[in-house]
Amino acid sequence: MDIKLSTRAIAIRPSPTLAVTARAAALKDSGRDIIGLGAGEPDFDTPDHIKTAAIQAINDGFTKYTAVDGIASLKQAIVEKFNRENRLSYAKSQVLVSCGCKHSFFNMAQALLNPGDEAIIPAPYWASFPDMVRLAGAEPVIIKTGLEQKFKISPQQLRTAITARTKLLVLNSPSNPTGAHYSTEELASLGEVLRGHPHVLIASDDMYEHILWSGESFCNILNVCPDLYERTVVLNGVSKSYAMTGWRIGYAAGPEKLIQAMSNIQSQSTSNPTSIAQIAARMALEGDQSLVAERCQVFKERHDFVHEQLNKMDGVTSIPSQGTFYIFPNMHGVIARLDNVHNDIEFAEYLLENAGIAMVPGSAFGAPGHMRVSFAASMKTLQKAMDRLQSALAA
Ligand code: GLU
Repeated sequence: MDIKLSTRAIAIRPSPTLAVTARAAALKDSGRDIIGLGAGEPDFDTPDHIKTAAIQAINDGFTKYTAVDGIASLKQAIVEKFNRENRLSYAKSQVLVSCGCKHSFFNMAQALLNPGDEAIIPAPYWASFPDMVRLAGAEPVIIKTGLEQKFKISPQQLRTAITARTKLLVLNSPSNPTGAHYSTEELASLGEVLRGHPHVLIASDDMYEHILWSGESFCNILNVCPDLYERTVVLNGVSKSYAMTGWRIGYAAGPEKLIQAMSNIQSQSTSNPTSIAQIAARMALEGDQSLVAERCQVFKERHDFVHEQLNKMDGVTSIPSQGTFYIFPNMHGVIARLDNVHNDIEFAEYLLENAGIAMVPGSAFGAPGHMRVSFAASMKTLQKAMDRLQSALAA
């Protein structure tokens, strides 16, 4: 039977970040020597005290359905985390726990967007934002930025992009894939533009807040523009800060009406996030935080090494990331030089075949000609990867 898929299924592509990771894993399984610099997840293990809490939850029989929006004690831990770390105040009724931050964003898009609505997404963007907007029937409106503006949008660009149909602006700082972090001044000037357009909501994806080494402390737009509180949703999760990607716990906080609608959507799809993972997430937020800063320091050392190596390579230009575990070099010079390589997608293929390195091409993030290099790998692996890259480019 020729199955006719829905328009929405046809409108999207599989997550390219997950696809590269899966491809690298399959090649490794088949015996190829592949270095994976594609994965967007910490290479560290989940800390022991978090694992122990989850094991205890299983032994205690905490294995049944929970409240759809998350257990009260985890929501309380999230409320306290916002207070303590972000100086943001929420009631538990303004918080929804979901199966990863991606799911939080998905629920938000479903609860907010209608066909005909526009969602402004600065590029380079995290690969899944536009498709989640499309799945809600709305239209992603991309603002392009490059190395020369440190991958950050200007107030003027934002002003030009906003129309009467704009429903949402997506901010992700520190950014996946560029590692760019908006300063308080930059957020204040974007906030100034947003004040003139009260019909626009803001989604602030703060997933990488703890992996930041620029010297500035992390800033959310609400810290500088508290008057935007009624129209801002803050999204976060435990995946990156606590190396808990597989546990799938993310959360959103914002206006109660919207959070309630997101919860209703979740109640008709996944129901609650995994009970055991919720206990683990509570321990992550309430337990010892010292590992978070230690791991950030490790990421910084790896970043400095990779950044230095990349810039030594002919045809590669990279600016330092301010945080995350990604760097996003411009590879136009290399692509122009290589025979049979015409774009970043072919270049990713070339690297996989000729150097055994997996990276996600910049096109996946709305920035052709770039590559996302994930340095969530040991220093030894990164040294080997940079040596291979250097030789592949010299060949
Ligand atoms: N956020 C990670 C990445 O960008 C995980 C994979 C995904 O869901 O995209 O690689």
